[in-house]
Amino acid sequence: MLLPVADNATVWRYSRLLLANYRAPLVGVVVLQAAAALASLAVPWMLGSLVDAVAVGTTAAHISNVGVWLTVAILVQTVFAGVGQRQAMVLGEGIFARLREEFLDTITHLPLSTVERAGTGDLLGRTTNDVDRVQWVVRFGVPRVLVTSVTILLTMVAALVASPLAGVGLLTGVPLLVVSAKWYLKRATPAYLESSKAYAAINGVMTESVEHAATVDELSLGRRRRARMTEALQASWHWEDRTLYLRAILFVGMVLGYAFPTAVLVVWGAWLVNSGLATVGAVSAVALYSIQVRGSIGEFLFWIDEIQVATASLARILGVKLVEPDRMPTGEVPADQEIVARAVEYAYRSGHNVLHEVSLDLVPGERLAIVGPSGAGKSTLGRMLAGIHPPTGGAVTVGDVRLVDLAEEQLRSEVALVTQEHHVFLGSIADNLRLAKADADEPEMRHALASVDALVWVDALERGMETEVGSGALTLTPAQAQQVALARLVLLNPHTLVLDEATSLLDPSAARHLERSLNAVLSGRTVVAIAHRLHTAHDADRVAVMDDGRIVEIGPHDELVERGGEYAALWHSWQQD
Ligand code: ATP
Repeated sequence: MLLPVADNATVWRYSRLLLANYRAPLVGVVVLQAAAALASLAVPWMLGSLVDAVAVGTTAAHISNVGVWLTVAILVQTVFAGVGQRQAMVLGEGIFARLREEFLDTITHLPLSTVERAGTGDLLGRTTNDVDRVQWVVRFGVPRVLVTSVTILLTMVAALVASPLAGVGLLTGVPLLVVSAKWYLKRATPAYLESSKAYAAINGVMTESVEHAATVDELSLGRRRRARMTEALQASWHWEDRTLYLRAILFVGMVLGYAFPTAVLVVWGAWLVNSGLATVGAVSAVALYSIQVRGSIGEFLFWIDEIQVATASLARILGVKLVEPDRMPTGEVPADQEIVARAVEYAYRSGHNVLHEVSLDLVPGERLAIVGPSGAGKSTLGRMLAGIHPPTGGAVTVGDVRLVDLAEEQLRSEVALVTQEHHVFLGSIADNLRLAKADADEPEMRHALASVDALVWVDALERGMETEVGSGALTLTPAQAQQVALARLVLLNPHTLVLDEATSLLDPSAARHLERSLNAVLSGRTVVAIAHRLHTAHDADRVAVMDDGRIVEIGPHDELVERGGEYAALWHSWQQD
């Protein structure tokens, strides 16, 4: 049930398209690096000609002259290489920023049901390890591959120009390099894909065990979680071992591939000089080129390996884009604010309906409480009413438009789900508020904070709304965090709210305080409250009682108590408690 992984063709098409957007800076980097490479190539060439000059006899002035030109060549190379490297890094950052933004956009629009099915580890692995691996290669690898390939190519050309015959000796390593690279590439990508998957599994087991440590303890799942971890570690070990083996073979081939030509050149060059087919200077220049190019080849190959790792990671990142959307906005506009559920069914696993043809008409402005035993389907119905999941049967509409036919922003301005889980994002309080409304100005945000009773403590902070909060910065109390979440709701301003045990996790004193804040947010809106505490039901306009995925009773509190059915029984037993 893991998220999809993009195939090779998709990865390459995407990479090509991505790079095509940066054609001008790419060309700029190549030109700068070519200039640097040319300057560096002048060095062996000048040394070679110096050898020839010394062989036939030359003046000290000529040697000094060559020394000056050598210095100039090195300085020119340094300047071009420096500027080129800087441009390359800027380019890498640009590409990576774009990649990251696209990815973030994709994951924030993923259908929730798919993410839940795939488990947290898979998505988390892709957003952390895989992004890190791609980032490293885009930032440093892409620029260095450009630099080294230009250098290698120009060195080959320079060697052939210095002496075509001796230059040929330089090419003797190529077959070995090609064969070992081909052998490696064929095996590396699948192995790295498996390795990434194994990392994701470790991530998943680890995060789930830590996040739900209390449950693990309570149900004595420790041994089973450790076994799962060992399994995940073994898989990871296996793939690390496999990729290490592949790299070891590759590097043996590579080292031979680039050490071999220098040895060949010594023998071959000596024969050429003896036969009068090349000068000592020319052979020296080519031999120097063969030594100089080693570094570039080594680095090029290092990056080719890293690119394999990154390609596997990119395939996993791009795979997230392949998740089928669970909705398509149709552009229809709701005629009014009435939310209606008709014969709604939902199955988390196909064939296992947890809601059975639930129908419900929300009266605008009413407060409806949903009560019922655990597992009755209250939360699931709440999620349907808030448009979180598309129902597997029937429909939930607002003003005759299906919730899942609305664009996300439009949907959130109609109805929002408030749960007991709330998150403080790293950033200022204002940043946290603007998540709900990007263009909210200061008075608007202050109003939102004031209406949930939070303005007093926010103003008491040294930097007010600009105070950094979240992990690593100021930690808000659970009640404060909940207030910030409620202030976001005020800014979002939906006409209908679905509350799923929104205050049940807080301690009673905070809950009372929070209920005041909550009441301010609720006034004037249609509210569906999934209730654990029956006094919420008592205060509601209507109560819906759910059992086994069905609404079995619905009506005002007093009427239901009088009727003496399911709700009356619940109410009496709760009162006795
Ligand atoms: P509670 O009061 O305990 O929260 P509830 O009435 O809100 O219960 P739901 O959470 O809607 O009930 O669950 C209805 C049924 O769907 C239950 O049988 C539950 O096990 C199942 N269910 C809920 N969430 C999932 C999920 N993510 N995957 C699979 N089954 C689920």
